[in-house]
Amino acid sequence: MHGGGCRGGPRGGAGAGAGAESEGREGVSPGPVPRVGRVWPIGVRPALLRGWEPPATPYGRGHRGVDLAGAPGVPVRTIAEGTVTFAGQVAGRGVVAVDLKGTGDPPVRTTYEPVTAQVRKGDQVRAGQRLGVLQPPGGHCGGVSCLHWGARIGEEYLDPRSLLPPWLLRRGASRLLPVWGVE
Ligand SMILES: [Zn+2]
Repeated sequence: MHGGGCRGGPRGGAGAGAGAESEGREGVSPGPVPRVGRVWPIGVRPALLRGWEPPATPYGRGHRGVDLAGAPGVPVRTIAEGTVTFAGQVAGRGVVAVDLKGTGDPPVRTTYEPVTAQVRKGDQVRAGQRLGVLQPPGGHCGGVSCLHWGARIGEEYLDPRSLLPPWLLRRGASRLLPVWGVE
């Protein structure tokens, strides 16, 4: 067997004008989060009971969401249009998750708990549509009734308030400034 396939010649020096496109992206960077939110998930000007406290390490302790005050039984709404990807129980609490439309791939997933769901997995929901009602407090906010609202892209959590436009942020739960660029 002879190695016949050697075509020799060094590659022609196509240096000039060869459009070498180098995309400067290394790894996936979430970039700016689209401010697709149209309403707060609860109430009109919900009080912030606990803010966003990302853990220092992926396995560290922190608070991957925000806690908004609200009475048991009040409606919990999706902040934007999307698809219900989960509605059920997790460790005894009702949880609803909604993937938001037009937020990329993977999409932004928002979660709401503790909520007695009135939607089902696969439902399409409009901004502000009711997902269910807030359940009685389960101790997450020290006995005070609250909604834990979370958001993530893939496995990366973000401050869910970063999904809301500035005019909505000014109207409620703005005790803490939004945190950008965490991690
Ligand atoms: Zn919480």
